[in-house]
Amino acid sequence: MSRFLSPEAACLAPYTPGEQPVDMQYVKLNTNENPFPPSPKVVEAITWGEVEGLKLYSDPACGRLNKAIAARYGLEPENVISGNGSDEILAFAFRAFCGTGRGVAFADITYSFYRSQAALFGLEAAVVPLREDFSLDVDDYMDFSGTVVIANPNAPTGMAIPRADIRRLLEANGERVVIVDEAYVDFGGESCVPLVEQFDNLLVVQTMSKSRSLAGGRLGFALGSGELIAALNRVKYSFNPYNVNRLSILAGAAAMEDGDYFQSCCQTIRDNRAWLTGQLEELGFAVLPSQANFVFAKSDKLSGGGLYRGLKRNGVLVRWWADSGRIEDYVRITVGSMEQLERLIAEIKTMLEEGS
Ligand SMILES: *Cc1c(COP(=O)(O)O)cnc(C)c1O
Repeated sequence: MSRFLSPEAACLAPYTPGEQPVDMQYVKLNTNENPFPPSPKVVEAITWGEVEGLKLYSDPACGRLNKAIAARYGLEPENVISGNGSDEILAFAFRAFCGTGRGVAFADITYSFYRSQAALFGLEAAVVPLREDFSLDVDDYMDFSGTVVIANPNAPTGMAIPRADIRRLLEANGERVVIVDEAYVDFGGESCVPLVEQFDNLLVVQTMSKSRSLAGGRLGFALGSGELIAALNRVKYSFNPYNVNRLSILAGAAAMEDGDYFQSCCQTIRDNRAWLTGQLEELGFAVLPSQANFVFAKSDKLSGGGLYRGLKRNGVLVRWWADSGRIEDYVRITVGSMEQLERLIAEIKTMLEEGS
């Protein structure tokens, strides 16, 4: 390690992103991107005039965007903050609500970025194991006094818990912030947004990366009480006031306002997920019940690593975690277009035939 690293930087646990290859055309089912392009309204919004407008800073308050998000969820703009991906929003939240004597709790099997951010901010992390069947029991978090972060639906399992469970957690301790990461909620599961007006300790984090096809636009947002949003803005204005660029503000607002296109893409993904699950089960896979735009599945014949490597050799990327204990035999497969999924299933069939 470099002698230039500060002691704090030496303790980091950087997140490992899924592969983003530039060398060849993979069927890319490894990072939960949407197979469909953003809404045509997004394309219309990015005019040449707006590109010329890049000479000016973006609106630090993201007014146009936050208004569109608030309108969509029946809230006020002061209940909304936008960020450069929801990863940035999560960072604001960790910085705002956690610190000395105030730790953070999250599941052992969940979005690994929570662990990276806890290390970045030097936080004490309580890692709470999921149950044997990968379900999350909120009772395991009831006595924890620090901030709780729950991905719902969870990643990489795809499994969701009911809103009533989160409500119980919120009611048990009003002094504790509960962050619900709803990156995948548009594909199934119950959103906690309807609880925002009742619980001033609830922060719901969402992203435009998955259900709104804007992963490359880097847009996430959080919904919460005015008090929580003000706390996040305190951090934002201490770090990067112009955190969302001009084009992404326009793209995000246009994507939010095109409800029809959004609904139809999400429905197609749900239909494709059902098809993919059925196909994998027919091939002997165990597939966890997913409410997300991916499935987490394990073959009865091929190891997780064998599947990942074999598929990659044949041009299909899925996500696999080496040395990951009880999820080592699983792969996470993004629900793509039917064309992509048919190709995936064909490759798996070939591997199974070659293996036998
Ligand atoms: C993809 C993802 C995010 C965030 O993505 P951004 O692209 O930074 O908005 C957050 N949480 C979970 C669980 C995710 O899977």
